[in-house]
Amino acid sequence: MKTLAHLLLLLLIPAALGAAGSDIRFYHDFDNGSLLPENTRAEGDTVYFDGPDNFNPGGWKWIHFRMTGALDRALKFEIGNHYATGSGRLDDLVFVYSHDQIRWHFFDEAAHHRDEGVYRFFNNEPFAHDTVWVSFSLPYPHGRVANLVHFLRSNIYVFPTPSSDRRLVIGQSAGGTTDTGRTVPPLDLFGLKITDGEAGGEKEKVVIISGVHANETLGNHVTEGLLLFLVSEEPEAVELRQNVEFFVYPMVNPDGRYGGYNRGGVQHPRRDTNRFWHEELYADMKEIQTVGEAMKRDTGGDGVAMFFDFHSWSDTRPHFVIAEAHVRDTPFWTRLTEFEPEMRFSASRYGDEEALREAGRSTWFAKHRLGARHAMTPETMFRAGENIDRYRRMGRHFGLAMYAELVESQRSPAAREREAEPASR
Ligand SMILES: [Zn+2]
Repeated sequence: MKTLAHLLLLLLIPAALGAAGSDIRFYHDFDNGSLLPENTRAEGDTVYFDGPDNFNPGGWKWIHFRMTGALDRALKFEIGNHYATGSGRLDDLVFVYSHDQIRWHFFDEAAHHRDEGVYRFFNNEPFAHDTVWVSFSLPYPHGRVANLVHFLRSNIYVFPTPSSDRRLVIGQSAGGTTDTGRTVPPLDLFGLKITDGEAGGEKEKVVIISGVHANETLGNHVTEGLLLFLVSEEPEAVELRQNVEFFVYPMVNPDGRYGGYNRGGVQHPRRDTNRFWHEELYADMKEIQTVGEAMKRDTGGDGVAMFFDFHSWSDTRPHFVIAEAHVRDTPFWTRLTEFEPEMRFSASRYGDEEALREAGRSTWFAKHRLGARHAMTPETMFRAGENIDRYRRMGRHFGLAMYAELVESQRSPAAREREAEPASR
């Protein structure tokens, strides 16, 4: 009898677990993954989950997890009120999901239930795959930048900088263990130059960095769109390469990105990585120091025409650029807002050496260590319905605006007049 009872129990247990929904498993130990396992579980067809609060407790958290056991199930996802995503919170902001980590889709239904203190989202159809990735916002793993750099290496317009080796690597990150016990290996920090090697003469210098804040993945999507434009055969890109050298450091905080941190890195999770751009401040910040020193060496430390540090966040407000007021009067800004009419301008002072040395922002460094004429921090929002292609297109628009500033406006007035004359075309 006893044996038969055991046998029945063994047969019944898996079925019972399946019915209760505990056959759903969660994973976050992968490049750019993040989840708080102790607050995550499936009960019936509801998935309760949360993200680690490793910066700005209560502020928006990077969440990106893999789930198995989803096939044919109409799951509802639920996260507490405390999950803040900026001033818009989650009323108008929507999580994304993917079956392949390449194409991301916004969930069909999403609403904030204030009475219950939760935010709930789901699809109208059951999942068509067993494995599903869920994220807020659009992921950009370190592996993606490594692949992009690998691809760019074979391009005839891409070169090492004085600081980078043949693989376009300027150094390695610190690596370490995350607050949820994940291992982050030392990762490559990249530096590369884009220009037309055949075109001689004096060239302007432009510096492009991204990935300073761990969870600001959209900044990297914009940067990727910009880089692909800069190596393209579009006429404006061809002329830009003839007149400009672009120095690019596409992932400044790879540990924070790989580890799924909210803002800081593995070495110093609670430090804001955009407040340490100064030799004394970044002495124990391996990644910031490596990139900072490379930028000085590679550009010669003076006369950089334009500096861009592509950031992003999550909010319902329009995309905007933080820069000194004079940037608003440039051909760059005029052209950018022709392509991006919603783009807003946020004036800031980077000229005040003492005040901003304390703040240690990358734009201060650009101004005082690279001699940048125009230093700016584009802030791209994660908004419902705006997908990866949208941010890549925005990157191209930044490139076209650089063309207006660095090529078009530098031509002689006579040449500009001839071009404007429709009959001469
Ligand atoms: Zn940022």
